[in-house]
Amino acid sequence: VFNFSAGPAQLPLDVLIRAQEELLSYQNIGMSIMEISHRSIHFKKVIERVEELMRELLQIPDNYKVLFIQGGASLQFSMVPLNLFKENKHASYVHSGSWSKKAIAEASKFGDIHIIASSEEQQFTYFPSFQVHQLNENTNYLHITTNNTIEGTRFTCTEELPKNGIPVVADMSSNILSEELDVSQYGLIYAGAQKNLGIAGLTIVIIREDLVGNTGVDCPTMLNYETYAKAESLYNTPPTFSIYMTMLVLEWLKELGGIPEIAKRNIEKAKIFYDFLDTSSFFSSNVKKADRSLMNIPFTTVSKELNSLFIQIAEQEGFYALKGHRSVGGMRASLYNAMPLDAVLELVAFMKQFEEKYA
Ligand code: PLP
Repeated sequence: VFNFSAGPAQLPLDVLIRAQEELLSYQNIGMSIMEISHRSIHFKKVIERVEELMRELLQIPDNYKVLFIQGGASLQFSMVPLNLFKENKHASYVHSGSWSKKAIAEASKFGDIHIIASSEEQQFTYFPSFQVHQLNENTNYLHITTNNTIEGTRFTCTEELPKNGIPVVADMSSNILSEELDVSQYGLIYAGAQKNLGIAGLTIVIIREDLVGNTGVDCPTMLNYETYAKAESLYNTPPTFSIYMTMLVLEWLKELGGIPEIAKRNIEKAKIFYDFLDTSSFFSSNVKKADRSLMNIPFTTVSKELNSLFIQIAEQEGFYALKGHRSVGGMRASLYNAMPLDAVLELVAFMKQFEEKYA
């Protein structure tokens, strides 16, 4: 089947095959990677390899740490303010969707949050623009969600990011590794692994060193980035199997040509899908064109009844998980890195047939 889930999402077939081949005996040691100590030499090599591949693929500068944390991207909604707040506890957030809403709600428990731009009044159908001069100079950081998984928008105006020393924190859960990224523009980047990085259970945090260990808050040990940075993410037992799966995904990505190649493929896949939506008088997208996500594409037919029928027949034909998020309705196709071009072509062909039959 073709799996268009927003996450956990489809993995590259080659990755699953390799995981299957190695499942019972990792590198012929007679034990599964799931059964060995996180302090064993075999696992240490895995976690080091993941960091090395992340650094290589994203060209992460040397003054950044790569941390492996549990608790999902949702835990970062709390860890970010707990670690980055200074005495005045003030942060600025761009409110671009359901996930930023949750991030704002968590941060508000610990300090003062200023929403500098919001698209809530238009149901988040565009990415709200903001100006650096709107930022209070005493704000401790600016938080943005670079891809809005549920609403299907993305942040593209990287030239708008502050260059005045205010750290930018970015939730990249649903678009990390999908297109070119200049890590040096950000103070902290976080992403749950279950979309472009691997499977659930792991969250990767890329953080500039000067932001580690300076929290103005009495921070619990396991919520302090310094704990992970000092122990190379082995303070306690990390999600070993998730980290191993991320290694396989990153090796797959490197082999196919890294970010430049995957970005090209992602642009092509999304273009085919959007071009079809724009020419159809039956299917449509209500997201502002300039802000459309490459990863998550919400769309609809002309009625709720036809949406339900479409989802039902699509599933019978092997196109899975196309139901839109309950807050948006309609349908959503997630075209993450692992989604092959052929799957998009087949889905579009199926949509054309459906349109001919039911329009
Ligand atoms: N942020 C974004 C942009 C997401 O898409 C998601 C999950 O889909 C989350 C945060 C929450 O991630 P998790 O379920 O790993 O906590």
